[in-house]
Amino acid sequence: MSLLTVGTVAFDTIETAFGKVDRVVGGAAMYIGLAASKFTTPINLVSVVGGDFPEKELKYMESLGINLDGLQIKKNEKSFFWAGKYHDDMNGRDTLVTDLNVLADFDPILPEAHKKPDYVMLGNLTPDVQMRVLDQLKKKPKLVAMDTMNFWMDVAWDSLLKTIQKVDLLLINDEEARQLSGEHSLLKAAKAILKMGPKILVIKKGEHGALLFQDKSVFFAPALPLEKVMDPTGAGDTFAGGMMGYLAMKDRLTKDNFKKAIIVGSAMASFCVEKFSNERMKELTTDMVKLRIKEFEKLVKFGAPL
Ligand code: AMP
Repeated sequence: MSLLTVGTVAFDTIETAFGKVDRVVGGAAMYIGLAASKFTTPINLVSVVGGDFPEKELKYMESLGINLDGLQIKKNEKSFFWAGKYHDDMNGRDTLVTDLNVLADFDPILPEAHKKPDYVMLGNLTPDVQMRVLDQLKKKPKLVAMDTMNFWMDVAWDSLLKTIQKVDLLLINDEEARQLSGEHSLLKAAKAILKMGPKILVIKKGEHGALLFQDKSVFFAPALPLEKVMDPTGAGDTFAGGMMGYLAMKDRLTKDNFKKAIIVGSAMASFCVEKFSNERMKELTTDMVKLRIKEFEKLVKFGAPL
């Protein structure tokens, strides 16, 4: 089944307890695409980069079945740039720089062939741009999911709420859920957020796993305990890409498949954090993915095969 995704394709400078990397490739849509491509194709990616973005990274994405017809390349401009520094516990982080660059006046223009997607993953970026993507669709997708972050709550609150109203599933982390709802308890936060529009909510809690709220019930998926977490950047997007890629592959939106999808999302995110940037994701084979999902099955004693 086809998956349409929109989000940043970017340069990141990242500092963690294990080192610092400068201007490596990143961006929500890049991570979503890499993870989702392990489960479904085509993935139609909508984004914008500057002339400074390496062509070999774009070619690599295409080689995975990611269609870049909706990626605008602004030759004389600079790509989106983000710099962040992680706290020693690797869960919290501070954003040091967000340079919107090409994103500042980005108008996403969907190619005709992208206007009837089966599934949509609105990756983290300007809520107005996420909405513009939805406005261009010619058929109601089976599922529209959305990610966002505190940055947009700070600078684009009203348009964020309007966009949230339009989606079926919202994925955010615990800190963002608290900020969005104004509630400290995650259960209270979830209740408040589910009144804002989405029917399903996923709250990611970093190394403490993820919660799925659906039909008044809660399901918990742990994060795989890892010996070494080098760089958590992109874990949330990789989770979202794995989850939506799996749902698109299964193409049956049962409660059970949503539960399995957050296990798959957690499994994919557990790879992402093992190296800086997209390095670990580039090494993944189908067998490695299957094996890791099996490890998760053992961890959560999930009865049915995925
Ligand atoms: P995650 O760690 O899953 O939250 O995603 C990190 C990625 O999000 C990085 O590769 C950044 O390039 C990208 N990013 C950081 N800030 C923003 C923002 N305000 N909007 C969109 N993408 C962002």
